[in-house]
Amino acid sequence: MNKESASKPREKRRGWLKNNNPPGDFMNAPRCGAKTRKSTPCQCPAMKNGRCKLHGGKSTGPKTVEGIDRIRQAHLKHGKYTKEAKAERRYFNNLMREYKRIFSQIDQEQEEDIRI
Ligand SMILES: [Zn+2]
Repeated sequence: MNKESASKPREKRRGWLKNNNPPGDFMNAPRCGAKTRKSTPCQCPAMKNGRCKLHGGKSTGPKTVEGIDRIRQAHLKHGKYTKEAKAERRYFNNLMREYKRIFSQIDQEQEEDIRI
């Protein structure tokens, strides 16, 4: 930079900044306000979503049916506790309980027959 340009005042710029933020005083920009590790509100200028470049915010989650299904499949490990598996176990346990009751009745009847 030569001496002449350094001494000349800068021309006033017009238009939006390259990062699409409005021109003007940086210090007047809305602040992020996210909780920092010091438990103080973040002082960085906020983006359109209200958070700064560091605190983009939590994911809002899948929106489409395919996306929700994909997440569900990603969380599934063995399927032991799915609604279907639980219902099947309940059905067979009830069946076994019923068989045990019937067989114990038959055993009692046979013992009574032997005594007589
Ligand atoms: Zn922030």
